[in-house]
Amino acid sequence: MDFELSFEQQELVTALKRFVETELYPHEDLVERERGVPPDLAAEIKKKAIDNGFYAMNMPEELGGGGLDALTLSLAEKEIGKAGSGLGILIGRPTRILLACKDDQIEEYLMPSIRGERKNCFALTEPGAGSDARAITTRAVKDGDDFIVNGTKLYISAADISDFIILNTVSGVEETPRGPRKLFTTFLLDKNTPGVTVTPMLSICTHGYNPNTIYLEDVRIPKSKILGEEGKGFSIANEWLYAGRVMLSAHCVGRGERVMEMTADWAANRKAFGKAIGDFQGTGFKLADMATELRLADLMTLNCAWKMDQGTLTRQEASMCNVFASEMIFRLTDNAMQIFGGMSMMEDFPIQRYWRDARVERIWEGTSEIHRDIIARDILKPYRK
Ligand SMILES: Cc1cc2nc3c(=O)[nH]c(=O)nc-3n(C[C@H](O)[C@H](O)[C@H](O)COP(=O)(O)OP(=O)(O)OC[C@H]3O[C@@H](n4cnc5c(N)ncnc54)[C@H](O)[C@@H]3O)c2cc1C
Repeated sequence: MDFELSFEQQELVTALKRFVETELYPHEDLVERERGVPPDLAAEIKKKAIDNGFYAMNMPEELGGGGLDALTLSLAEKEIGKAGSGLGILIGRPTRILLACKDDQIEEYLMPSIRGERKNCFALTEPGAGSDARAITTRAVKDGDDFIVNGTKLYISAADISDFIILNTVSGVEETPRGPRKLFTTFLLDKNTPGVTVTPMLSICTHGYNPNTIYLEDVRIPKSKILGEEGKGFSIANEWLYAGRVMLSAHCVGRGERVMEMTADWAANRKAFGKAIGDFQGTGFKLADMATELRLADLMTLNCAWKMDQGTLTRQEASMCNVFASEMIFRLTDNAMQIFGGMSMMEDFPIQRYWRDARVERIWEGTSEIHRDIIARDILKPYRK
């Protein structure tokens, strides 16, 4: 096994690291205070990301994207993950679900997303349907060549700063030998369509990348806006689920590296009882465990990303990676707070922000329990008689 990064990968990591440190870090306190990135600043950072060739690194080269493989993307995600999410999203990685665009959708949604001219959010969760995504009730009813959509979507990240919504609906029911089955249809919905209302929610984490409620009241959507096929909504979403889990893990590892560096520096220099606190075994062992778990999460992530490139990543492996990395970053930031002592509780000191941001990683890309459920089911499957 070759663990060496290629020259191009090293160059990308170095360039991105410099970009994140110089263009994103200086604005983190502002974004935290304002709970958002001022529009002028957002436009300026996005332009620099585009000029530096960092925008849409995950999209195919022939469409104007960076054409990176999953392994290289995970290295990039690690660097971007070091900065606050509100700023990190300005180095846009448009969702690959948009590759399902066809006909006019390509020029209307896909290409402008790759060029950084349009931005989407992804709306699945509802008040009555989170982990149990198939329980969604947002209804799309056919009316001639259009659909009329009614429902409510909850916690939708960045809906406030997006201009179109990838909207998941129920469009019918089919009879199967095992009983009735819902049919799901995904739409591309312009946010300024009459009947769409977006209301920001106040969350404790990832300021600037904020959750929103989307109310849909008699929204008319032409059938030309169906993404993929009518009645097969989840099949396109499933294709990129694993990628989301691996990139979340890379994000957690990047953030962990940043917090680890700050904490080690503090522990090596903060004195109590005449010596550095890192020299007390109670602190030193915490640091050792933090670093060990971080390394494990890093190796798991790289391995999963590599397997994605080979086409051999299983859903069990993607879930293992997600659950381990997301729980690792919470333990790591919690230990870091303990090592920073009273200072960690101060709002103007960033450690509490990393800890708050870490908490959502165990929830938003599937909860830890759902991932454990997937892993357990796949372990048991071959042995069931
Ligand atoms: C900040 C933020 C941003 C988000 N962004 C988006 C977005 O952009 N788009 C979007 O569609 N959604 C988004 N979400 C929603 C997110 O995907 C859901 O919160 C998540 O899937 C969990 O659903 P839920 O909150 O309804 O919790 P529930 O599903 O109600 O779960 C509550 C608890 O019950 C447990 N539980 C549920 N079922 C089982 C089971 N079978 N076995 C064991 N335990 C179980 C869960 O693990 C959890 O602990 C976001 C959420 C947050 C917090």
